[in-house]
Order: sequence, then structure tokens, then C-alpha cells
Amino acid sequence: MSSNAASMTMDGSPYVVTVLGATGSIGTSTLDVIARHPDRYRLHALTAYHSRERLAALCQSYRPEVAVIGNDDDARWLRDHFAELKLDIDVRCGDAALVEVSQAPDVDVVMAAIVGAAGLLPTLAAVRAGKRVLLANKEALVMSGALFMDAVERHRAVLLPIDSEHNAIYQCLPSEHRQGLSRHGVTRLLLTASGGPFLGWGVDELASVTPAQACAHPNWSMGRKISVDSATLMNKGLELIEACWLFNATPEQIQVVVHPQSVVHSMAAYSDGSVIAQMGNPDMRTPIAYGLAWPERIDAGVEALDLFQVARLDFHPPDEKAFPCLRLAREAMAFGETAPAVLNAANEVAVEAFLSGRMPFNGIASLVEEVLENATLVKANELDVILEEDAKARWLARRHLSKRF
Ligand code: NAD
Ligand code: MG
Repeated sequence: MSSNAASMTMDGSPYVVTVLGATGSIGTSTLDVIARHPDRYRLHALTAYHSRERLAALCQSYRPEVAVIGNDDDARWLRDHFAELKLDIDVRCGDAALVEVSQAPDVDVVMAAIVGAAGLLPTLAAVRAGKRVLLANKEALVMSGALFMDAVERHRAVLLPIDSEHNAIYQCLPSEHRQGLSRHGVTRLLLTASGGPFLGWGVDELASVTPAQACAHPNWSMGRKISVDSATLMNKGLELIEACWLFNATPEQIQVVVHPQSVVHSMAAYSDGSVIAQMGNPDMRTPIAYGLAWPERIDAGVEALDLFQVARLDFHPPDEKAFPCLRLAREAMAFGETAPAVLNAANEVAVEAFLSGRMPFNGIASLVEEVLENATLVKANELDVILEEDAKARWLARRHLSKRF
């Protein structure tokens, strides 16, 4: 019996994995971890939206059974490309194909690493098919909260958070935490935030920052949307909502702590005064490897943490005046109904507008606030309703955008 046998499926075969958003930052880190353990994992599908060359190169290296791309033209190009290379990879395209490869019977594990609302349907499909779902795509959970968590329970999916903070908290909590935090003596969840590239900046200084500055995160290398979210602190706001759903917590039970070194990834505080933290170098391969191997541990290719080199750890409260997105997210979660979905949709439109130079940085928070004030919020108990309210919020955001900028 090989030393890896315990981590294989019951019949000793490798885990079969679909990577949604394979060409992104999380997707490529996932493939890096998988490549370190070729006997433990086999790839069913890799998916991408536009970047056909990048997807082709990943398929050539990692040999999945299926490749999914966003449109017909790119699918044709990929088919020709694979035929030339004599690679037997089935090429599919569009949203229906994303759902197919997420719920395919052979698949054990789905890495949900599409960015934004586009990830909701395939991630939910994986949940409904009872897969082990590694959740990086926080927007999917923010949009559909209760419905998503109900589906996890009903279909006995295994949901493991990949967002580094939530992965840290998951590691700091007892396994039965969803029964209620207070039952386990947990008093608070401490969600750490690096503070992003503009930590310490005031409203006036933020007025003229550029997309390039916003995307230059000091500690993490990430996709452009989450980089902007980190710069506005909307990322922490989305994460606060994500933590409420994942850990069955109220917004009041979650304290955001700015920690510029990004070494403590988050903490759980207990009634006896204990605070349990998870630490490590800021490298997403740690939470990804945790999710892939759970409940075991595998090598992630991450350098060991050198505390002497870290030397000091700083913690302070966030500046919600300069970064109002955190407050907006907390209020949306406290309000409930479709408020988090509306917040998320407006933010996606606002970030896109900022990245394309149509709106200043401070406009992101004000646009989100304006959309929340003008949206009609309804109960978020059906998928169709959530998708409809998401579409309405985007329409509202675009209308406000064209009026103001
Ligand atoms: P990214 O922009 O680098 O990659 C996004 C991936 O999604 C790409 O493969 C892209 O082709 C695909 N995609 C984009 N739009 C799509 C669409 N409409 N339909 C289908 N596929 C589409 O993003 P990322 O930084 O890897 O982040 C992915 C998710 O993980 C986000 O939800 C982000 O918040 C979350 N996350 C990322 C990090 C990180 O360090 N990068 C950390 C925590 C959480
Ligand atoms: Mg995070």
C-alpha cells in the first residue's frame, strides 16, 4: 500500500477534480498544488472565459478530459489546436457546459474559482450534486447565502472555504461549529485584513488613485477584481458576509482587524479567553492544499514561515470613513433579504467602471450606496429571484453611472 493510499477515494483511485476558473490566480495555484501530487488527483475539466491560449497551454500541461471556454469561436480554435497536437480533450462552451463539468458523476472535487456572479450557477450545481466544493468564489455565497447553505446541507456537499481568512477560521473552529458558535464557547471571529495598497490613506488622497495602483497589492498576487475589492475594503465586506454564512455567525460576532503583515490569516476567540490563530506565509496554495487534501495535510510548495524574519505583527481597527464599503457590506448583511446580492452586483459594475477608467476610486462606494438606497429589496429564497434582483441592481448601477460620470 502506498503512503498516499489513505488520501485516495475508497477504491484507491485518485480524486477527480474540476477547476472552474483554471486560468485565474486561484486556478493556476490549484493546478500548481495538484501537479505536486499526480498520484492523488486526476483532472476532469479546466474552464476559462476568454483566455484561450492560456487554457490551451494549461490543457497541454495538465491533460484534463474536458476544456470549457466562454464562446463558440474560441471553442473552435481550441478544437483545431488540440487536433493538431493530437490531444484527446473534449472542448465545450458556455454556461451550460460549466454546470455539466461541475456536476459530472465522476467528479469528486470542484474548485470554484470563477470570479464574480458568473460562478454562482456552476458552484451551486456542484453543491447540489453533493461534491466536495472548494469555495474561492465568495461572490456566489454572498449572493445566495441561505439558499446556498441549505443546498450544502440538503445534498450533503462538503463545503471547504478557500478564502485564506475563512480557511483560517475553519481551522480554528471545532468541526461541529455550524450547530452554533456559542455552543462551542466561541465568542468572536477575528477577520484579518491587510488593509490593501492604500492603508492609512485619507479620502482626499484616494480620489485620484489609478487602477494600476489599486491592483498592486502589497502581500498577495490576485486577479484584478479582487485586487480592487481589497483596495476599497469591499473584499473584507464580502468576506464578512461570507463568514456569517459559513460559520452561522451574526455580523456583530465578527470583528475586522487590520493586520498589514498578512501572516495571521484570521482567528477565533473563545469564552475562556483563548484566541486561536492560523498563521503562514501569504500564499493561497496553503488553503488550496488544505481543501484538496482535507482532512489530511499535503505539501503545498509553500515556504515555511520564518517568525524571526516576520519579527513583528501589528493589529489595528479599520478606517471605515476612508473605506465605507466595509460598513455598506455589514449593513447589507444585517438588513438581509436581497441586500447582499444587490451590494455585490453594484460593486461588480462599479469595479468594472473603475478599471476601465470611467469612474474614480471613491465613486465605487458611493455608487454601491446609491444602488442599495434605490433598490427594492425582497426575500432571497429562490434562485430566480436572486438572479432577477442581481440583474436589476446591475441595470440600476449602470443608470446611475451614466448619469454621474
Ligand atoms: P482571476 O480574475 O485571476 O480569475 C478568474 C477566472 O474566472 C479566470 O479563469 C476567468 O477566465 C474566469 N471567469 C471570469 N469571468 C467568467 C465568466 N463570466 N464565466 C466563466 N468564467 C469566468 O480571479 P482570482 O483572483 O483567481 O479570483 C477568483 C475567485 O477567488 C474570486 O471570487 C476571488 O474573490 C476569490 N479569491 C481569490 C483570491 C486570490 O488570491 N486571487 C483569494 C481569495 C479569494
Ligand atoms: Mg481573503
